Amino acid sequence: MAYSKEKTAEQEKDIRVLNTFIRTYCRGKHGSRKGELCEECSSLLDYARQRRAKCPLDPKPDCKHCPIHCYAKAQRAKIREVMAYSGRRLLLRGRLDLLWHYFF
Ligand SMILES: [Zn+2]
Repeated sequence: MAYSKEKTAEQEKDIRVLNTFIRTYCRGKHGSRKGELCEECSSLLDYARQRRAKCPLDPKPDCKHCPIHCYAKAQRAKIREVMAYSGRRLLLRGRLDLLWHYFF
């Protein structure tokens, strides 16, 4: 998918974290191997990246406080599940650094 606009450091960081969350979820739930994503999760990651790249708000508010709610309903439900699942796991592994404002 082409979005050639420069990404800000803030966006890159969010996308990195998003990546970690979705990978953690996919490994735990779908049995993917390290570094791999199933089709479903990889399309969710693509979707989430694009939404993040297009977010017009700067600084981006917490998603739950956002006036836009840019995610479509199905993706929103899915990402919440990912966040809840991976959030707990990352918390258990002491990765507090990754628990950030994306939480719905
Ligand atoms: Zn998956």
